[in-house]
Amino acid sequence: MLVLGIESSCDETGIALYDTDTGLLAHRLHSQIAMHTEYGGVVPELASRDHIRRVLPLTEACLAEAGKAIADVDAIAYTEGPGLAGALLVGASVANALGFALQKPVIGVHHLEGHLLSPLLAEPAPQFPFIALLVSGGHTQLMAVRGIGQYELLGETVDDAAGEAFDKSAKLLGLSYPGGPQVSKLADTGDATRFKLPRPMLHSGDLDFSFSGLKTAVLNLVKKEQQDDGTLDNATRADVCAAFQEAIVEVLTKKCLAALKQTGMKRLVIAGGVGANRQLRAGLDDAAQRRRFEVFYPPLALCTDNGAMIAFAGAMRLKYAAADYQFGVKPRWDLASLPAA
Ligand code: ATP
Ligand code: MG
Ligand code: FE
Repeated sequence: MLVLGIESSCDETGIALYDTDTGLLAHRLHSQIAMHTEYGGVVPELASRDHIRRVLPLTEACLAEAGKAIADVDAIAYTEGPGLAGALLVGASVANALGFALQKPVIGVHHLEGHLLSPLLAEPAPQFPFIALLVSGGHTQLMAVRGIGQYELLGETVDDAAGEAFDKSAKLLGLSYPGGPQVSKLADTGDATRFKLPRPMLHSGDLDFSFSGLKTAVLNLVKKEQQDDGTLDNATRADVCAAFQEAIVEVLTKKCLAALKQTGMKRLVIAGGVGANRQLRAGLDDAAQRRRFEVFYPPLALCTDNGAMIAFAGAMRLKYAAADYQFGVKPRWDLASLPAA
């Protein structure tokens, strides 16, 4: 079965073709980051309009790369939620229009299930059951995953998400959005021992997280260390990045270890944009060796939003695909409410 995947939940248009026999055939992405930069955040109306411009050319590029015609597509998966309503509606309406024209079934996918299953697109893919750490721009959750659609929430952030903490701290340091990659790069040249930042909820005894206090600690540090013109010198900025990243990595790693211990599971899966962070991967790889568990990541290019994870999640749920071409979107949608596949 050839599944076309369409992701349009926020500021990235992602398209992919996934073949249930041979795997991922092609994926293309257009990021709107540059377009939204001058506004300091994602402008929903501009996001929707840009998805409209991109979705068909990206689909054609994927088909060309895969050597397929649109008539070869057997099912169409699109992100039904959560996300920006207008942006989601672009993917939903294109998917249903294509499905109607081709008389092929259409399936709405949960964006976070897409992230959660993206490590299954890597080689080797993890077997169920596993602990999943979902660390994205909007979410930080630990889950026990026993199968497709069998997700038990073990803990989550009580305030900011890990990616959000990277982005907000980066902004305080005068870095542009998205902050994660830039903080990570500067941290490489910094000294993590010069400043000591808090490890929020490290010893809370549960699997919840909190990152807003860490961001406030960065703000206070910036105020204390700033030069007359309000900026930090380059070395200090790199040292703050290193201290911040070390704090986040330590909290995430130790909570993963606690989740493995609590459930007795031996496999850990990381998903979402922060999963691209090299220091986080190094910390987890190191812990995995010492504590004898396995850790799995999505391919680097599939950590942040993409169409491949939507095509794949759709392929895992083909039994729910429908051909009535009635559609809506779910800007808010609880992952735990999904049925098992
Ligand atoms: P959600 O999926 O929760 O709705 P989202 O789609 O915005 O949120 P993703 O696309 O999964 O989230 O990830 C984006 C986030 O990942 C941003 O916060 C970004 O700063 C962060 N990120 C990306 N690369 C890195 C990195 N190398 N290190 C740390 N953070 C990173
Ligand atoms: Mg994004
Ligand atoms: Fe996402």
